[in-house]
Amino acid sequence: MTTAPRRPRFPAAASPAPAPTQRPQRLVRESREADEHARRQPPTTGLGLDSEQVRVRMVDRLRRDEGISCEPLLAAMAAVPRHRFVDPALATQAYEDTALPIGHGQTISSPSVVAIMIARLFGTDAAQRRGNLGRTLEIGTGCGYQAALLARLAPSVISIERLRPLYDKARDLLAGLPRSNLRLVYGDGRLGHPPNAPYDSIIAAAGGDELPQAWLDQLAVGGRLIAPVTAGRAQALVVVDRTPTEWRRELHEAVMFVPLRSGTA
Ligand code: SAH
Repeated sequence: MTTAPRRPRFPAAASPAPAPTQRPQRLVRESREADEHARRQPPTTGLGLDSEQVRVRMVDRLRRDEGISCEPLLAAMAAVPRHRFVDPALATQAYEDTALPIGHGQTISSPSVVAIMIARLFGTDAAQRRGNLGRTLEIGTGCGYQAALLARLAPSVISIERLRPLYDKARDLLAGLPRSNLRLVYGDGRLGHPPNAPYDSIIAAAGGDELPQAWLDQLAVGGRLIAPVTAGRAQALVVVDRTPTEWRRELHEAVMFVPLRSGTA
């Protein structure tokens, strides 16, 4: 996949102050694929958003404007109803290429940023060979949209959220679904999730000054990590590939993600 350098797309969002203490991560319950569940949720918006056509148009734009050509990813984006993950008042904007607020000072990433990040994860030799993302760790569940995509693209996904209300919201949106390859964890994602490590793919939706050492340690050899990091006065996406001898790091385009915070709240 190729992407042109771009201007930041995320509105900066104020986040709540970090909690003073770190609580141990708690695996609370399993969730399953969001899209099928969300599709079953009444009532429909009555705005035509439940039709796959509206998502197919979004996917066509991702192909044309962003050069995304990763077919499994495009199929997942055509299937998962993004409008079900945002406030009903914002549903009509769900298929525009824009970040949207999800409450608690956080934002759901724009479709193009989500697509660019996941497409890069697909870029390793190992992912190409397997045809999927392998064992995957997401930091920053937010409303659960990206987690729902990842669950279609990986045999197992662990997704961690540090804000209890968002964790609860994502759990409700993703609950009661037919597959159990997605597990939501309430905890501090800076610590990763050691019980399921190593991960073939690690993706973070919040950015700090440094990549936490736990993420690097928990990345499998041949695996890839993608995350926003502070670079000078701005933020940029960094891709880290772990080889048998090193962690190879490459800086990509400027982005604007919410901050990676410590602890839970
Ligand atoms: N992928 C999400 C986007 C969420 S925005 C979606 O599809 O909706 C980033 C999220 O990262 C926020 O919900 C924020 O609370 C969370 N976050 C920030 N620091 C974190 C940390 N240390 N551990 C886990 N989640 C964190």
